[in-house]
Amino acid sequence: MSAKRDYYEVLGVTKTSSSDEIKNQYRKLALKFHPDRNQSKDASEHFKEISEAYAVLSDSEKKQTYDQHGHEGVDGRYSNDDIFGRGGGGGGFNDIFESIFGRGGGGGGFTQQQRGSDLLYQTTVTLEDVLHGKKMEINLQKQIKCDNCQGSGCKPGTNKKTCTTCNGQGEVRQTRNMGFASFVTAAPCPTCRGQGSMIETPCGNCKGQGRVKGTKKVDFEIPPGIDSGDYIVSNEGNEIPDGINGDLVIRVKVQPHQYFNRDGKDIFYDQDISMIDAALGCEIIVPTLQGDEKIKVESGSQPNTIIKLKGKGVSHINSRGTGDQYVRMVVNIPKKLSKHQKNLLDEFQKTTD
Ligand SMILES: [Zn+2]
Ligand SMILES: [Zn+2]
Repeated sequence: MSAKRDYYEVLGVTKTSSSDEIKNQYRKLALKFHPDRNQSKDASEHFKEISEAYAVLSDSEKKQTYDQHGHEGVDGRYSNDDIFGRGGGGGGFNDIFESIFGRGGGGGGFTQQQRGSDLLYQTTVTLEDVLHGKKMEINLQKQIKCDNCQGSGCKPGTNKKTCTTCNGQGEVRQTRNMGFASFVTAAPCPTCRGQGSMIETPCGNCKGQGRVKGTKKVDFEIPPGIDSGDYIVSNEGNEIPDGINGDLVIRVKVQPHQYFNRDGKDIFYDQDISMIDAALGCEIIVPTLQGDEKIKVESGSQPNTIIKLKGKGVSHINSRGTGDQYVRMVVNIPKKLSKHQKNLLDEFQKTTD
């Protein structure tokens, strides 16, 4: 027989791991290797190994014995039943398995709520919308609660009857004997699919589904400062009576602008000016998302000079404040000159020698 592996190694924790860390690690491994979920041959053996390690390391007294004397100390002092706390309720196995397998306590039925599927809506917005935000109202085709039966799925005037397979519990329990301990696991009742009750006379409108395909008007606001990406409107996806509605995913694309480029909060804009205006200086009007702005170009401005217009950018959802607009001077050199212009420039050149 091969030597027993170190309990810490088995769980992938260390002597200094907190009890929460040990519990979480065991929960993870138990989920992975529980024979109900893992079909591989050695899953059962492996599950037994991690459960034993957890049983010891989750009990401060047994952990201390193990830390001081190793496997021999534990095996010499505790029986299998002691280790797993059979009859004594130790180890916290019940809690863990309830949380893993989602058993609903106290006759509340199977706790796993059904959730409606998400819906996708695609839209494009302009940079002006990015500045101000945009209120939208759409007519959405989706699964909605049946009006005829108020979502119960029963013909009006009739009721659901208690499922006889699970007596309304919504779950069936199985006791598994693992050789060293027995675990009670629960699964949704196959007859009523975990609902605990069944429809005797289905609603004619929804055929017992409790929901039908329909159209619903949905209002939402695209916030200022958005980027292209997905935004979630909670609860506006497909509806599930007595469950959780899906979400509506708004896929936004910010359209490229004719003049402006955006980078986060800032706006970039290229302004053409003539070489004469650059040399002599001038006043020009430049567009911004917030209206036209008059700016002064200093005499002797060089190509690619940047003029910053403070506060003329946009907001950004991930940061505070408003950005700026950067105006870049694109100096145009005339491609064609009249004879007169050429002479003037020749004259000008002579003066600069
Ligand atoms: Zn109905
Ligand atoms: Zn049932």
